[in-house]
Amino acid sequence: MRFGVDIGGTNVRVGLVDRAGNIVDHDVVRCSLYETAADLVLTIAYTILRLAKVNGVKASGIGIGCPNACPLDGTVENATNLKFKQKFSLKELFHQYFPDIPVMVDNDANAAALGEMVYGKGRGLSDYVFVTLGTGVGSGIVSGGKLVYGLNGQAGEIGHMIVEPDGRDCGCGRKGCLERYVAAEGAFQTYVELCKAAGHSPLANDCRGISDLAQAGDAQACQTYEIMGRCLGMALANVACVTAPSHIFVFGGVAQAGELLLEPFRRHFNRNLLYCYRNQIKIELSGLMSNQHNAAILGAAALLG
Ligand SMILES: [Zn+2]
Repeated sequence: MRFGVDIGGTNVRVGLVDRAGNIVDHDVVRCSLYETAADLVLTIAYTILRLAKVNGVKASGIGIGCPNACPLDGTVENATNLKFKQKFSLKELFHQYFPDIPVMVDNDANAAALGEMVYGKGRGLSDYVFVTLGTGVGSGIVSGGKLVYGLNGQAGEIGHMIVEPDGRDCGCGRKGCLERYVAAEGAFQTYVELCKAAGHSPLANDCRGISDLAQAGDAQACQTYEIMGRCLGMALANVACVTAPSHIFVFGGVAQAGELLLEPFRRHFNRNLLYCYRNQIKIELSGLMSNQHNAAILGAAALLG
């Protein structure tokens, strides 16, 4: 049976996945306990072997999703979620312990986009865009049934498309990137700015709080989603011109707001959409939303094809 490994912000989730997409067993490894990539991989490898033994199965393949991973050579460099910033080959480290089975590595957003294809709403679709809204914005673009990788495996950085010329500073060194308006921190910044302009103190401490307030009709919270929808609608209408997808699937913690976000997103998307795509592109929540930890494991397992 195959294993899906999600190397996330604080934890590594290791799951044993059957053919139907059920996570039969899983375990968690804490990233912060390890000073080197080799030590972390040793523990993950041990966890895989232990889960295989306990469940009486053999590992047939390992799919690994990790932020900043390069799908072309399986290396990771400057990963925001790990202590070790130097470049290392995740694929080679795993191959030391599992020389005879396939080991596939990709970044977490691409892995989740493939998870949508194998286990979610992307089944049978050949052209869709997968956008994940959380602490950052990640995306995977499926065109002609395949993930688009581009020149160096870095295609699909929708989060760093500029939506506001000379806008907010972004960690990438530029200004006005989509991520700075629709990921968790950016959304919260918008809400705080709107409250300040309205002359009162913010009533929410995070995106969940903004969602609750918007649900109750709070003006600044509703306006926050309107601005997020405008930024997403504009950016994704431009993306639609490039690959003409049939669907856009939205995933991640920020997307848990559901229609509060999707309604303004669709409205601004349609307003900005080129006439030849009108009424043809559906914007929906990902089919993997119900359990996001599981989704990351399934996405990683889906890398094995
Ligand atoms: Zn940026």
